[in-house]
Amino acid sequence: LMSRWVGSTLERQDALNRLEEACRQLKEVNRLKDEFLATVSHEFRTPLTAIKAAAWILEQRLEGELNASQQGIVSIVITHADHLHRMINDLLDLSKMESGEMRYKHAEGDLARLAREVSISLSQLYAEKDIELALELRVESAPATFDHDRLRQVLLNLLANAAKFTSRGGKVTLRLLREAAGVRLEVEDTGIGLASEHFEKIFQKFYQVDGSSTRSVGGTGLGLAICKAIVEEGHHGRIWVESAVGEGSIFIVTLPTASNPELTALDSPS
Ligand code: ADP
Repeated sequence: LMSRWVGSTLERQDALNRLEEACRQLKEVNRLKDEFLATVSHEFRTPLTAIKAAAWILEQRLEGELNASQQGIVSIVITHADHLHRMINDLLDLSKMESGEMRYKHAEGDLARLAREVSISLSQLYAEKDIELALELRVESAPATFDHDRLRQVLLNLLANAAKFTSRGGKVTLRLLREAAGVRLEVEDTGIGLASEHFEKIFQKFYQVDGSSTRSVGGTGLGLAICKAIVEEGHHGRIWVESAVGEGSIFIVTLPTASNPELTALDSPS
């Protein structure tokens, strides 16, 4: 009996050792993946910057006039280089998120001003797509402490998605309102909408709703995962979607102020 007991204990110890070794190997592979992601996304930026600069020189006619067909070719290069640039930035952000190296630079600012700024910067994109972009500020100003660049990134991302999944003639509204506990930003579109089974999943990295209409517009499936990290980890806020297929979506971001010492209290309602 004693030897059987010793035997099974040894077997168990052996199995445990093997599990630990497998775990160690998996962690190492995961670390290598993160390192690979960081290196690749970083290294891709240098040649891409050169491509963009060269295309810009042509576009600006610094090397002479272009005929219509050459102009068309240059604008294809620029569009796709910009797209690649955004995807590489997403990968870089993902690698920072995975390694816990996403750093935030909080400073005092005005969320109403940020919303105005963002809507102006996208006005051309929206005009080209023939989608109305409405800015609905329910407060004059919303002073708060936040990471300006990162929250701008969230709004740009939500508004770019809204434009991507809304057809011509549609409407997108960027709304800012005050809530009891802080401030609320909404991006509402009249686009294709989402079924409730996807509401949570679209905020996971690489998740894209599988359908030819969404797949055909491209993207990495990282944007919303990055938005979620910025809002929740960087600002102790919340982000979620309310939607119905064929009716459009509302992406909602709430940022606490009272419960969050990093954010200053907003002005009392005027
Ligand atoms: P990407 O846009 O690069 O695919 P995101 O993380 O930004 O990645 O979005 C994930 C998925 O969520 C999209 O592929 C799409 O299926 C869905 N989605 C995001 N925004 C909208 C929207 N405004 N309307 C409908 N579906 C959306």
